[in-house]
Amino acid sequence: MFEGLGIRGRLVRMDQTWREIIARHDYSTDVAGLLGEAAAAGVLLADNLKGRGSVHLQIQGEGDVRLLLVQCEAQLNVRALARGGNVAGSGSMRELLGEGRMMVTIDPGPGQERYQGIVPLAGATLSESLEGYFRDSEQLLTRLWLGVVGGSAVGLMLQRMPEVAGSEDDWHTLGVLADTVRTGELAELPAADLLRRLFAGYDIRLFDARPIGYDCRCTDEHLHNVIRLLGDREVNSVLEEQGRLELNCEFCNKSFSFAPEQARQALRGSSDESQLH
Ligand SMILES: [Zn+2]
Repeated sequence: MFEGLGIRGRLVRMDQTWREIIARHDYSTDVAGLLGEAAAAGVLLADNLKGRGSVHLQIQGEGDVRLLLVQCEAQLNVRALARGGNVAGSGSMRELLGEGRMMVTIDPGPGQERYQGIVPLAGATLSESLEGYFRDSEQLLTRLWLGVVGGSAVGLMLQRMPEVAGSEDDWHTLGVLADTVRTGELAELPAADLLRRLFAGYDIRLFDARPIGYDCRCTDEHLHNVIRLLGDREVNSVLEEQGRLELNCEFCNKSFSFAPEQARQALRGSSDESQLH
């Protein structure tokens, strides 16, 4: 928080979590770079939530990459994936995604209304599109710096709080200062040192850092739900054809195989947790 200026900021740095997100996928450096930027942005968005809220960030394209999907919960458990005809391709955001749009879904938690904002991909970077989202959908002046470097996905966000009257000059100056930050610095320098150095002369109030975790949803419970959603007919026809039911978790790229009896048990809603492998 920049004291008295009505401007707040957030810094995100994912190391282990980021490496887990991409571990079992063959993304090219450029696709992983885009996904890392999206993942960092998803965490920045989710940091505002409480309780059982969650953020879904979807970037849809028409190029080699059709979808970047990031889901992050209020507790900062995150998962993310890239999908498309060629996630091993290289190029800029525009070259990889082509024309596209960004969809931000904010679910504040049970009993509260979901909010969805959709903006076209604008400019040359995800940051620019996200700035457009905040401006058009949330009426918040926002600047973002996102990047992936050396096994880390990082992001810095500055946001003007509409309820506090701050000066245009300070907002502008902080943006210019933040423009000088290098992705490597965001990934390596201790956050407090980095922020104090980057915004020297400004009175910054720092809040405690929060841990971020990788959390795939391919739990027994979730997989059994997927089987129930497929329904009796579909499951039985797959079992007849293939002898087993295979499910693949797109986030962590792991496969789960169910013998006929296990699949039928999941359909009936009884869960014997020891049967999954
Ligand atoms: Zn998974």
